[in-house]
Amino acid sequence: MSSSGVQPSIFSRIIAREIPATIVAETEHIIAFLDIAPKAPVHVVVTTKDPQYHNVVELAAGNPSLLAELVAVADQIAAERTNGQFRLVFNTGTAAGQTVFHVHAHVLGSSTPTDSLGEDSLGAL
Ligand code: 5GP
Repeated sequence: MSSSGVQPSIFSRIIAREIPATIVAETEHIIAFLDIAPKAPVHVVVTTKDPQYHNVVELAAGNPSLLAELVAVADQIAAERTNGQFRLVFNTGTAAGQTVFHVHAHVLGSSTPTDSLGEDSLGAL
């Protein structure tokens, strides 16, 4: 439990190395790791180390340059791991499939030139 009395998110526990994850990119403010339940051949979660923003709307309003940094890291991951075409998904709200309320993007893509993404990778919409 943190000093605020709020339980740290699962992503904060990954950032603190309390639970394992396959980390694929890390900067001063951003961390990215393989999703534990991939919805596409390439599925990477990109999140802020700062847990205060619960979704992309809060992040855009509160720290737009951090959102831009998150998108830049996502783009770099996509360039390295996909065929150059990818989805960048921010589920926002429970009904849209958000389960972790610590802002994050999903990079979803295929690694081979001919593969395309199915609708499954859009999540529970
Ligand atoms: P959301 O549903 O909030 O948009 O995305 C949360 C994502 O985090 C899901 O795709 C889920 O599979 C992933 N996830 C949840 N717990 C863990 C975990 O412990 N490790 C990793 N690597 N991914 C997780």
